[in-house]
Amino acid sequence: MDLLEYQGKQLFARHDVPVPSGRPATTVEEAVTAADEIGYPCVIKAQVQIGGRGKAGGIKLAADRDAAQEHARAILGMDIRGLTVHELWVEGASEIAAEYYASVVFDRSAKAPLVMLSTKGGMDIEAVAEEDPGAIARLHVDPLLGFQDFHGRRLAYEAGVDADVVRPIGAMLAKLYDAFVAEEATLVEVNPLIVTPAREVKALDAKVTLDDNALFRHPENAALRDISAEDEQERMAKERGLTYVKLDGDIGILGNGAGLVMSTLDVVAQAGGSPANFLDAGGGSKADAITSAVEVILSDPKVSAVLFNIFGGITRCDEVAKGLIEAFEKIKPDVPFVVRLDGTNDKEGRQLLADASLPNVVTESTMDGAAKKVVELANAV
Ligand code: GDP
Ligand code: MN
Repeated sequence: MDLLEYQGKQLFARHDVPVPSGRPATTVEEAVTAADEIGYPCVIKAQVQIGGRGKAGGIKLAADRDAAQEHARAILGMDIRGLTVHELWVEGASEIAAEYYASVVFDRSAKAPLVMLSTKGGMDIEAVAEEDPGAIARLHVDPLLGFQDFHGRRLAYEAGVDADVVRPIGAMLAKLYDAFVAEEATLVEVNPLIVTPAREVKALDAKVTLDDNALFRHPENAALRDISAEDEQERMAKERGLTYVKLDGDIGILGNGAGLVMSTLDVVAQAGGSPANFLDAGGGSKADAITSAVEVILSDPKVSAVLFNIFGGITRCDEVAKGLIEAFEKIKPDVPFVVRLDGTNDKEGRQLLADASLPNVVTESTMDGAAKKVVELANAV
């Protein structure tokens, strides 16, 4: 789970990582009140789970109340690389003498956390890593020994930070490492980590990714999950216990078992189609699971045709047919369905479908034939 910048900063503050103080706001009025309390100049920052907000115009300095109001109005509702801004963070403006970069990530190949520090902060670190890899000091931490003071100093010297801030930056890295371990994060990134003219060090930005599988141990973090940022269909599917991944095409796909669904995506692509999703109804799907799955697929307005590819093993094709018939009674879909039923009780399933004579449903007996048909129907829409 990715945290918003301000949630990351609040998490940092719990671990004594120095951060500017600020307040969240969801309306222009709240932002102005927050700015008045914080004092001027202050910074109005868009809270979206994506970097490069500064470049996109989502971060603005406000010298006074009028400016705060104007910026809050402009940033709320702004689209930043596909994400709409619903929340702001208002914080006291910082003076910047130097911008550095610091992070702790979990390096799976080394089976250890990796701490990185660079004086090339405030810019795209991926570009720095590519063009000037020597500019990033790196250190793997033995998880049993933990992060020691000398690690911090070594990183600071290697990165080439100003001599007078070697100690405070080493101390900040130690605290970031503590936060990383204690909160069960997979990434903690500070870009930029700033040095002020008064030679204080602070985390000016925060990017934190938490391990979803450990969230049950951190109720305080789990409560931060931003449901509104999740895709509507993916949330709906999750609530119904279905495995669903939204893709960008127009053919809805339902299969049972991840392997079958993946090969269905390939066959549809080969037939010239573009899948709208990956939906695995799972093994042993009963009628109601199928009905739920159809609801999820059809809730995506981009879907113009649906392919059902069922290979009956534990799943019985007659159950799938019943589910489909129920779904048609309930939803009355207006897009065509191509159904391929093969395996356990396939004859019974096809018979049920034939008896129901559902509008817009075509049955096919092979996967290739079904894929060709669904692409043809999708293109005809
Ligand atoms: P990002 O663009 O999404 O990574 O957002 P950041 O929080 O990293 O902000 C981007 C840039 O805005 C920083 O690198 C700073 O140069 C600038 N910035 C952000 N807050 C302040 C501030 O309080 N004072 C000053 N002078 N610059 C700021
Ligand atoms: Mn940043």
